[in-house]
Amino acid sequence: LIQLYIPLNFMGMLYREIKQALIDIDDMFSILARHPEVSDKPGAKPLVVTEGTVRFENVRFSYVPEREILKGITFEVPAGRTVAIVGPSGAGKSTISRLLFRFYEPSSGRILIDGQDIADVQQASLREKIGMVPQDTVLFNDTIGYNIRYGRWEASEEEVAEAARLAQIDTFIRSLPEGYDTPVGERGLKLSGGEKQRVAIARTILKGPPILVLDEATSALDSFTEKEIQDALDRVSRGRTTLVIAHRLSTVVGADEIIVLDKGVIAERGTHEELLAAGGIYAAMWNRQREADEAREKLKRAAEEE
Ligand code: ATP
Repeated sequence: LIQLYIPLNFMGMLYREIKQALIDIDDMFSILARHPEVSDKPGAKPLVVTEGTVRFENVRFSYVPEREILKGITFEVPAGRTVAIVGPSGAGKSTISRLLFRFYEPSSGRILIDGQDIADVQQASLREKIGMVPQDTVLFNDTIGYNIRYGRWEASEEEVAEAARLAQIDTFIRSLPEGYDTPVGERGLKLSGGEKQRVAIARTILKGPPILVLDEATSALDSFTEKEIQDALDRVSRGRTTLVIAHRLSTVVGADEIIVLDKGVIAERGTHEELLAAGGIYAAMWNRQREADEAREKLKRAAEEE
């Protein structure tokens, strides 16, 4: 019977391998199919980043003609500074990061990096200069070390470990039975949202891009994890031009400028203190979030006392 079992078992493994490969290929085609309209212009030059200033100039955009998402957005992220975009769900915050990465083209207006229109440069050179920490990181079915090294293939083992340390994920990795060689992803260890985000931060630290886009996770993280991730993000964004797409407000307090997006336009802008003093949309969002946080804390304390 065992003679029959071994080949059957092997065929089962082979079947799973092929199925996974097909799913991966499927994913790749669906990503390509989703962004077919953006390609390099003939004679496009590589992007040259000198300072790292990012500028949106009167940008308008719609996914479908009947519904305009951005209705003339103008702002600048000065070199090395941090600008945060906040606003209600569906306001178009993540759309701004997709346009900067040139997954889509504005219907009018321009996006400039150090004076160069990103529509005129080679896409590969643009994406090389921008580090993206997405909302939901997809991990490769490989080791956790591989997933970090993806940021820069030629990095040494020490550099990978240093990036993991800065991203506050090194201690966790070293506690795993196989350390950096532990398989992760669909077929390996499943990581939590917070752990995956820290892998993405380590990857970005290793890549060392002059411009960063942090698209915060929408899902609530516990306050300890949130603080750890915030510390890691602060470290990676120091001295780099950073655009934070903020779905929670706790992370934007220190930004050089906060832009409040509402119904496709910039409704308010300023620092945290200025916006609180103005008593507008931001102040209302801040108060609502504080009340929600307090209510959550109360519930937690009550549950602990029981
Ligand atoms: P949240 O805080 O909930 O993540 P957001 O401000 O980041 O929201 P976006 O993801 O930028 O919002 O989406 C803005 C609007 O565009 C939403 O109403 C969304 O439904 C719509 N939208 C997003 N992606 C597409 C798409 N590929 N095709 C059509 N509409 C889309």
